[in-house]
Amino acid sequence: MDLIEGAETQAARAEYTEWLEAFLPADYAADFGRYRYDTAFRRRHQREAFAAGWLVPTWPVGLGGRGLGPEAAVAVRVEGALRNAPKLVSVQSVGVAAPGLYEFGTPAQRARHLVPTLRGEQDWCLGMSEPDAGSDFASLRTRAMLRDGRFVVDGSKIWTTQADESQWCLLYCRTDPVAPKHRGISCLLVDMATPGITVRPIRVAHDRMDRFCEVFFDGVEVPADNLLGDLHGGWGVSLASLRHERDMIWVMNWVEIERARRRVDVAAARTDRDDLRVEAGRLATDAAALRFTGLRVAAAAAAGRDAPEFHILKLFGSETLQRAWDLVAEAEGAAGLADADLTVDGLEALGATIYGGTSQVQRNILAERVLGLPR
Ligand SMILES: Cc1cc2nc3c(=O)[nH]c(=O)nc-3n(C[C@H](O)[C@H](O)[C@H](O)COP(=O)(O)OP(=O)(O)OC[C@H]3O[C@@H](n4cnc5c(N)ncnc54)[C@H](O)[C@@H]3O)c2cc1C
Repeated sequence: MDLIEGAETQAARAEYTEWLEAFLPADYAADFGRYRYDTAFRRRHQREAFAAGWLVPTWPVGLGGRGLGPEAAVAVRVEGALRNAPKLVSVQSVGVAAPGLYEFGTPAQRARHLVPTLRGEQDWCLGMSEPDAGSDFASLRTRAMLRDGRFVVDGSKIWTTQADESQWCLLYCRTDPVAPKHRGISCLLVDMATPGITVRPIRVAHDRMDRFCEVFFDGVEVPADNLLGDLHGGWGVSLASLRHERDMIWVMNWVEIERARRRVDVAAARTDRDDLRVEAGRLATDAAALRFTGLRVAAAAAAGRDAPEFHILKLFGSETLQRAWDLVAEAEGAAGLADADLTVDGLEALGATIYGGTSQVQRNILAERVLGLPR
């Protein structure tokens, strides 16, 4: 991998930085604690990033992108991270649903959903996990039976992030109860306003955290045209979705690690505790390793190669993130305890080793598929 940035990357970085600095209010850095929870502001950022082609920079012009290569796109995301660019209100809409629609959608589905999703006018939730099918996703039991040009859905999902605020759901259902588990699943685009859907938010540890919900489907009718991808081909759609999700997650983790590191560095400079300084140094090294590994994966993608390193990004990023916020709490001591934002950051980091595939499952993937170890 070439660590010297090419002309495209340099130009993209400079142009994006200029755009972002013009967008952010003068008091943004000083008042980040308020802006980070300002949903209207974050939605405006999404719309303007879409219009300027910075939302999904690798995508074509007109779809929130500017056709950049993966290395330049990573450089843009890293630059945004360094400036604490506003977070999307619904990360799964842009990071998972939109790529799924782009890759598997019919022309009519793309025309109906893509631009509104990217502009933040249609939010999506991901209906994958069920009470008895989390890591073992292929065991899902929610059924969708095709009758008279409609799927009729019965069953339930759990841990569905922002289901109560989303207009649409990317819903995975069993459409062939007889086929082997992973060959009988289909993905449906479900309008959350359809009769028969009940959404029950799950109480979370802090009211500033994203909510997740239980979602119940009772005889819900979904037009057959809302099938995404092939009938019984939902396993392939889900694998692509998970890849998009993990692609997005490592950068999200890195962004948060860098934010935590800035606090650790301030606290470490004020103390004479050598152990804290050593940990701050380890964290800096690990954050850099995560970033360079991500860049290596991007370089491989640009060269049309698969990179086995991809499979350590989610695991290493989420575990480092938890260490990072623990270290902030340790370094700030009693002052940190009084900071509600730090509580939220620490709690959200706990979920990072679970969503998008738990650490244990990531280790299984590394052992079996990358290292070729026996089961
Ligand atoms: C913040 C957050 C947001 C989420 N958002 C969504 C969402 O929007 N949509 C959605 O569908 N889901 C969502 N989830 C759910 C998430 O995908 C599941 O929690 C995850 O897949 C694990 O499933 P589970 O909770 O059923 O745990 P289980 O699969 O029951 O696992 C329990 C424990 O057993 C371990 N384990 C399981 N199988 C193995 C194995 N084969 N080898 C070794 N260890 C194993 C796991 O690592 C874990 O420690 C979210 C979760 C969190 C925390």
